[in-house]
Amino acid sequence: MSVMELIKPSYYDEFHCIASACRDSCCIGWEIDIDRESLERYKQVDGPLGERLRRAVTEDGCFRLTGEEERCPFLNGEGLCDLILELGEASLCEICREHPRYYEWYGSLRKEAGIGLCCEAAARLILKGGSLERTAPETPEPGDEVDGELFSLLDGARDRMLAVLAEERLSLEEKEREICRMAEETQRAVDEGWRWDDMETVPAAGAEVPRPDLSWTERLCRELLTVLSRLEPMDPAWPGQLAAMEGRLPELLAAVPEFLSRHPQREREYANLLSYFLFRHFLKAAFDGEALPRALAALAGVQVVCLRDVFLWLTKGSFSFEDGVESARRYSKELEYCEENLEALERWCGERWNGRYETN
Ligand code: SF4
Repeated sequence: MSVMELIKPSYYDEFHCIASACRDSCCIGWEIDIDRESLERYKQVDGPLGERLRRAVTEDGCFRLTGEEERCPFLNGEGLCDLILELGEASLCEICREHPRYYEWYGSLRKEAGIGLCCEAAARLILKGGSLERTAPETPEPGDEVDGELFSLLDGARDRMLAVLAEERLSLEEKEREICRMAEETQRAVDEGWRWDDMETVPAAGAEVPRPDLSWTERLCRELLTVLSRLEPMDPAWPGQLAAMEGRLPELLAAVPEFLSRHPQREREYANLLSYFLFRHFLKAAFDGEALPRALAALAGVQVVCLRDVFLWLTKGSFSFEDGVESARRYSKELEYCEENLEALERWCGERWNGRYETN
């Protein structure tokens, strides 16, 4: 019997919430479902805090958000959590204790853990990058069963993609084209029911891959921004930002090479971002076979973050690491934290690649 493996990025354990120093606290604007165990504990709290807890929890077991900003009722004026201050960190409900950590289970084969890009402290670590660490989970709770052959195929393909992204001698463009090629090949293998052992050896990175011209890229980016602008926004300001980017699209795309030459570290950060998206989402194809749309959605995410970066750079006349953190974080909040939005993007990517998507 195979032993469950736990994989997590090397920066996972470095994560610390920066609490009051956070610019977009996760204690504002998010509905927090309190787990049953914590609800029971909160019912036992007495005194003024107990009274406050009972007033602050809705009948559905969520914290009652307050004010226009929709703040958690325990987030105080200094940006600190009153529950932690009065009862200690152990008093937090599961979501508050775990966020922005996430977990994925693949049957009894694998548990994967990571930190989510929607948190600025996590985004800093993700952009700086790291490697993957493999251990055995302390508590190997199995998840929904997966087909072992399909899982191995996707897992092997993802390892190769992550290796390409870690390759220092390739440019970002070469890496992205190579990821596209590998994802297409993986999808063919999935559709034809190949085993991982049957896969041809992937040609050396940098092999012949078609290079899109600028007008094609512009058409595709315009469609992508339009698709994103039709999704349910988490932040009401997001559609306006997408529209502003679309309004200057030719200028932004033309400025990308100069932006990258002036901020050479950004190429590495985009590769790290792409590694994060692939690590977090690609292997979920083990449940539905949709490998290519997930890889394309990861590439689309990096493209949108890059366009926002260039937009900021041209508008402000400067660009910092923190600007890049903010672009990545905002994108993540809109796409990764709304299942319907991410699925819509992946669907569009798959249809667009297959040529079934009608252009306007
Ligand atoms: S978004 Fe991240 S850094 Fe900010 S309060 Fe939440 S967990 Fe802490």
